[in-house]
Amino acid sequence: MSQDMIEKKAPNNVDSSFPNYLQQEGAERLWACYQCAKCTSGCPLSRLDGDYNPRLFIRAAGLGLKEWVLQNESLWYCLLCYTCQEECPEDARPTEVLTALKNEAFRQGFAPAPLAMGAKKLMEESRIYLVDDFLNEEREDEGLPPLDEDEEVLEEVFAITGLKERLEKGVD
Ligand code: SF4
Ligand code: SF4
Repeated sequence: MSQDMIEKKAPNNVDSSFPNYLQQEGAERLWACYQCAKCTSGCPLSRLDGDYNPRLFIRAAGLGLKEWVLQNESLWYCLLCYTCQEECPEDARPTEVLTALKNEAFRQGFAPAPLAMGAKKLMEESRIYLVDDFLNEEREDEGLPPLDEDEEVLEEVFAITGLKERLEKGVD
């Protein structure tokens, strides 16, 4: 996405407390970014999709364009490969900035529905795939014990982190 596009699409309302908030939520080095764009030039996703630009997310977050960033669907395209973090000459830790943004977007209910549904399934069943007789027969053939269909070992983890409440509010 070009600078022109961010200016046209960005909402006028700016939340000046947003950068400081993000710093407390894991984007500790947000202010170190000086917009050199090495993160974007190294990003494998940006090479495939010219509209995906991690540098612009970091710029917009630093400017307090909270709604624009959190509601931006392409925020979720990031693969968390950490290439940008390795490339950054200022140790601005762009992957950590993107992770803080995604965490906040999730908390505010802007996560894509399939992702939120997958997280809910993980919370309820401790896995994101179907456990059925076929799977357990395959496991038996490999000498593995059967899986319990109703295992709930992760539910407490989701409750402690606050994700359980968020998921129950945000996913039907
Ligand atoms: S995060 Fe690092 S690599 Fe990316 S624009 Fe900022 S300073 Fe440059
Ligand atoms: S972590 Fe995300 S933004 Fe950074 S290089 Fe990988 S895909 Fe691109």
